[in-house]
Amino acid sequence: MKSLWDDAEAARFGGPLGPRVYTSRLLGRDKSLVLHGGGNTSVKLRERNLFGEDEDVLYVKGSGWDLETIEPAGFTPVALGHVRRLAGLRSLPDPQMVNELNTHMLRAGAPSPSVETILHAILPHPYVDHTHADAVLAVSNAPQGDKRIRDIYGERVVVIPYIMAGFDLAAHCAREFPKQATGNCIGMVLLSHGIFSFGADARESYERMIELVSMAEEYLQKKQAWHFKLPHTQPAHAKREEIAQLRRVIADQAGMPLILKTNENEKFMGFARHPDIERLSQKGPATPDHVIRTKPLPMLGRDVTGYAKKYREYFERQAPHAKDKKTMLDAAPRMVLDPQLGFAAAGRTARDAAIVEDLYDHTIDVILRAEALGGWRAVSERDLFDIEYWDLEQAKLRKAGSPPVFTGEVALVTGAASGIGRACVESFLARGAAVIALDVNPAIETLWPRVDVLGVTCDLTDAKAIESSLDLGVRRFGGIDMLVLNAGIFPSSQPIQEIAAQTWKGTMAVNVEANLMLMQRCHPLLKLALRGGRIVVIGSKNVPAPGPGAAAYSASKAALNQLARVAALEWAKDGIRINSLHPNAVYDTALWTDEVLASRAKAYNLTVEQYRKNNLLKQEVSSRDVAELAAEMCGPLFAKTTAAQVPVDGGNERVV
Ligand SMILES: [Zn+2]
Repeated sequence: MKSLWDDAEAARFGGPLGPRVYTSRLLGRDKSLVLHGGGNTSVKLRERNLFGEDEDVLYVKGSGWDLETIEPAGFTPVALGHVRRLAGLRSLPDPQMVNELNTHMLRAGAPSPSVETILHAILPHPYVDHTHADAVLAVSNAPQGDKRIRDIYGERVVVIPYIMAGFDLAAHCAREFPKQATGNCIGMVLLSHGIFSFGADARESYERMIELVSMAEEYLQKKQAWHFKLPHTQPAHAKREEIAQLRRVIADQAGMPLILKTNENEKFMGFARHPDIERLSQKGPATPDHVIRTKPLPMLGRDVTGYAKKYREYFERQAPHAKDKKTMLDAAPRMVLDPQLGFAAAGRTARDAAIVEDLYDHTIDVILRAEALGGWRAVSERDLFDIEYWDLEQAKLRKAGSPPVFTGEVALVTGAASGIGRACVESFLARGAAVIALDVNPAIETLWPRVDVLGVTCDLTDAKAIESSLDLGVRRFGGIDMLVLNAGIFPSSQPIQEIAAQTWKGTMAVNVEANLMLMQRCHPLLKLALRGGRIVVIGSKNVPAPGPGAAAYSASKAALNQLARVAALEWAKDGIRINSLHPNAVYDTALWTDEVLASRAKAYNLTVEQYRKNNLLKQEVSSRDVAELAAEMCGPLFAKTTAAQVPVDGGNERVV
């Protein structure tokens, strides 16, 4: 492991917290050190208060911040003297510890200080860095991990046995550190949890972390435990209906919609098909910290009922040992290892699922390296339970408000790169959905660089392209719950006698047939939606009130409208509802350039402003207005409505 320190880069981080911010980010950049909010750092500064007195202040990473992207505001100042005194108490329940930390912050509105704050306070060095380094976990999770760690580091680190994070761990370290630490000590290893380094300045503390973790890596290499081989396998390309089926069963068990992200890369597939997978995967996580997101164990295969039964037994075994009464969490798995699917991660959001996948990706490294040292071990079931059902976590659950309405659900939007389609993506994202965004324009692939959008270039008149887009979408999110049929073309105005066969066929191909193909292929997926499948058809005012010169367009939209009505009849029994909306005069789309608008307005003898609002309500209709209605049509407001046709046109005399 190499130090990423760069003088020029470091110089850009000014202010008293600058160096602290910089090296925290350096730690965050290396995923084998910290993952997703894991790890924390601090600095002790002396500051003058309003009365001219000097105070010792501990700036420690606040909850909700990631080291990789932390800013000065992500460090919470707490009164160092008070926090240090807490470590000397004989006991302190964790909720009370959190209260003490929160009431001794020195900046109102700062994030809650890390639950590991007391640990930072008791270490007698200005800069303290803490990671959950993979290499250190691999060594300490091997047989005689304790002895191995001492062999590697000698006097350079203090070694602490596994104790759950919180007050007890901090108090234990406060007693143990002065006893063990010699003049050569530059760090502290918490077995099966992680490692601390410290120093007089940010660089020293950071580079000691790199040095200490490198020593564990070198040890693994020396013991032939660094490189591991997995059985070479080919992806099985499970059918998308199988994936959607599994997602549905997991969601049923969880009692809420979930995203299911599958990954059949060589590593996951090889691990899922490992001859010893049963033993390797059923011991627990690499570090108990993961358990909140991953649950203690992955599910092997697809027997969700069997998994839930075992989870309930685990709860019933462990709950009586807890200090206070615990409420059981849902019994659905968050990780799946399956010889056909590879690995699947379940999460409330696409981000949650991606985090679970990342955690397990690193867990496989830790498991296989510890295994190569003579046998992988995890902490006990009791320890896992203590973290999963920690008072602080249970309190968070009780406090959590209701999430956005489409959380855990997946919407597919066609024609998503511009205009109404693009606005639809935004409206569904704002309501918590993950979105598969299709467009014939390749720009779609980079329009939304975020984990909850999958942009796919797709020509909807090509059945194969539809197939592969759906495969990609289902592998990424697990299924499709909502379908927004938006893509359409508007050929240039022509009287009927001049319409070329090509124009007519081309319009029908995109506006009707493509939607039929997509509906047919989405039907088995929509049927599996936990809250029932939903389809929204972006129709047109031309359905109820066609215009001269637009025969191909009007006829195609009318055909699509009729298709939707029949779908409402045929698919109601499958719990799928389908509604249409008919927009008119939506001018903030690519179709309507300033020149086109100006010339159309002139043709009606109106100003552009008048032309834009030329409807009964004298209101301009925007893409966003249409998109918001489309999203609402998939929500609870329209839960009992199917086959509706709703105009969104500001009121049109011909439609009325
Ligand atoms: Zn930790």
